[in-house]
Amino acid sequence: MYEALKTFLEKATPVDSIPADCIILVQRAKGYDIERDNKFWKIEGNKSQVRDIVCAYCSHQVVMSNNAYRDYLANGKKNKVVCAECMKLELKKQKNEKASATILSRD
Ligand SMILES: [Zn+2]
Repeated sequence: MYEALKTFLEKATPVDSIPADCIILVQRAKGYDIERDNKFWKIEGNKSQVRDIVCAYCSHQVVMSNNAYRDYLANGKKNKVVCAECMKLELKKQKNEKASATILSRD
């Protein structure tokens, strides 16, 4: 797994419900196998399915777990939904921006 994404996920805190100002990290629907992916989850809320939702960056249709989808609807669909591929690019971009900022601040 991409290192920045791994670090990001390790810092993530599991919550009972997702606040409306949080980004929901999802996977793209393309390549998703409902049987294969859901057999790892015993709890129904953790099981996913393809939703009528697209990634905020790439507009690809995405997969979302039942729990996340429930919260997304409860939040009036206000959460920013980002696929793992775009999150990786965003983190990389932010890391680069941070690196550039560090270089720029050095007089
Ligand atoms: Zn995306």
